[in-house]
Amino acid sequence: MKDDFGREISYLRVSVTQRCNLNCVYCGKTDCAKKETELSPETFYVIAKAFAACGIKKIRITGGEPLVRGDICEIVRLLRSLPEIGTLSLTTNGVYLAQYAARLKEAGLDSVNISLDSTDEGVYRHLTGADALRRVLEGVDAARAAGLSPVRINAVLMRGVNDDGAGALIDLARRLPIDVRFIELMPFSAEGEDPLLRITGEEILRRFPFLEPAESGGGTAEYYTAEGFAGRVGLISPVTRKFCGDCSRIRLLSDGRVKPCLGYDTTYDLKPYLGDEERLREEIGKIIRKKPAGHSFDTQSGPRGLNRTGG
Ligand code: SAM
Repeated sequence: MKDDFGREISYLRVSVTQRCNLNCVYCGKTDCAKKETELSPETFYVIAKAFAACGIKKIRITGGEPLVRGDICEIVRLLRSLPEIGTLSLTTNGVYLAQYAARLKEAGLDSVNISLDSTDEGVYRHLTGADALRRVLEGVDAARAAGLSPVRINAVLMRGVNDDGAGALIDLARRLPIDVRFIELMPFSAEGEDPLLRITGEEILRRFPFLEPAESGGGTAEYYTAEGFAGRVGLISPVTRKFCGDCSRIRLLSDGRVKPCLGYDTTYDLKPYLGDEERLREEIGKIIRKKPAGHSFDTQSGPRGLNRTGG
């Protein structure tokens, strides 16, 4: 269905937990809601079914870190059973992916985005607080071996912190048939608010002039490739090339609230309507219509802690 600005809302991000096993410097991680506040797989299914009736065709599972939930495969299996849902994907930091990839695929997951900001062990540890680089790289291999497709790597670059590793990340797209995407730093934390730390998509193109435009397919990323590359390089520029006018997303949080826009704290609780499918659909329709026109990240901070919202 369309919101009041005429945008077709067809993409639901489902945050299944606020808990995360990493502490990324730019995420602005705040106190996580307790496990007890998280919806059960069955309740995610009931709410997602109501969203599907309102026109949702694509779901991405996120968090927090979705793979800290022991019942993640059950969540995937139930969401997969919704006939309206075309693509079902998941965003993970990849630390537990090697042990889950095959089971996720079996449960019905199509594709996976893996967050990886550096291929240097020390820089990775500094950025995330964990010695887990090797496990993430094993997760990338396991995802490919399991047949999840596409496999994408998402990286956030910060000037003077990990930007000198951009070339090594791009090299992964040269060697492997995967998309390596650079997401501009957004203002969810003190670091994110510092415009000097942000490496824009334009700057990446200046630094790597051999990148040539590739077929982009109408999503939020602009894709590039180069001779001899097995994969692509993607640039996602929510700050310098705001794409709110084409936004098709809405977010369900791990405790049953809905967040219509990443840029604002406003949420709407769906829990009071559980048990009444018609009422649930009506409320979802009202929330979709009220989706704000867009964020103001160029002039204003976003709410603290992307772990709470789901990236
Ligand atoms: N734990 C999962 C993961 O690491 O992919 C999912 C949640 S995480 C919040 C989702 C994505 O948000 C990650 O790719 C992360 O790099 C990105 N992210 C977090 N804070 C950000 C910020 N300030 N600016 C841009 N991206 C950010």
